[in-house]
Amino acid sequence: MDTRRVLVIGNLTIDDVVRPDGTVRMASPGGNVVYAALAARLWNPEVRIVTRRGDDLPGEILEVLRRLGVDTSGVRTIDGPTVRNWVVYEEDGRRRWLYRTPPERSREVAVQPGDILGGWLAGDPPPVVHVAAMPLTAAAGIVEHVRAHAPGALITLDTHEDWADPEAVVELAVRTDVFLPSREELTALAGYDDPPRAAAELRRRGVRAVVVKLGAEGALIDAEGLPGVRVAAYPVDVADTTGAGDTFCGAVAAALAAGLPLPDAVRRGAASAAWAVERFGSLALADLDPETARR
Ligand code: ADP
Repeated sequence: MDTRRVLVIGNLTIDDVVRPDGTVRMASPGGNVVYAALAARLWNPEVRIVTRRGDDLPGEILEVLRRLGVDTSGVRTIDGPTVRNWVVYEEDGRRRWLYRTPPERSREVAVQPGDILGGWLAGDPPPVVHVAAMPLTAAAGIVEHVRAHAPGALITLDTHEDWADPEAVVELAVRTDVFLPSREELTALAGYDDPPRAAAELRRRGVRAVVVKLGAEGALIDAEGLPGVRVAAYPVDVADTTGAGDTFCGAVAAALAAGLPLPDAVRRGAASAAWAVERFGSLALADLDPETARR
């Protein structure tokens, strides 16, 4: 099977990081969509990022993407500031937000279906489209648009911590090919913390394939012929878990684009995420050369 192109769609943010010792560094520039695109590029030569940036975005972020060979022609520049957050790392590695850009501004800079140009969805075979973590109505708009313009596209969907309407989430998930919730988001969705049971329940409600991200416990797949299959995480020393889920999802999407069966794609996701959590700063992946990293 031909390798399919990958579109990674989502919202760009700059997360300034305050370390436990009080020092500040811009370790997480880009947010979900950037980490997912970098991870996808590790496994696929044709990755385009579709997002919006403010006019103050440090050029180095796009430079990092371009250097790795991610196509940045889908990045639109909008007047005004880029979405910015301040995050503190506690001793146990957990994150706490000190400041977040007001929601009205975040909505202005949010990616829109119209940002996806028609040609990007064309082709035979049609692309794999990864919808990175974003607000629910925005994600629904993107999925709707992709389904309407490229019925054969394979859509992977990550969840977002602010999703609050379980019915609407399931409605959206059934329109995608692979749904990739984190354990926390699956628990919020189901109302109980039991990933195998919750994933099976989603399948009964029509979701084609569910891949639950379970942090250091790896991942759980529930799909046709793969009921409750576990994929182990790679044992690594954790430096920083920012972007683990995004990295995982981007790698899974790219592996599916290369025609890998779902369990193998999930193993690639786990390997890529392990590499990222071992290092401080989510752009750690950018230090990898895609040509050599795969070996
Ligand atoms: P999210 O950021 O969406 O909550 P997770 O924390 O579950 O996602 O991480 C996504 C994936 O990253 C996991 O499925 C696992 O493969 C990998 N991962 C996360 N934390 C660790 C860890 N401590 N050690 C090894 N792999 C990890």
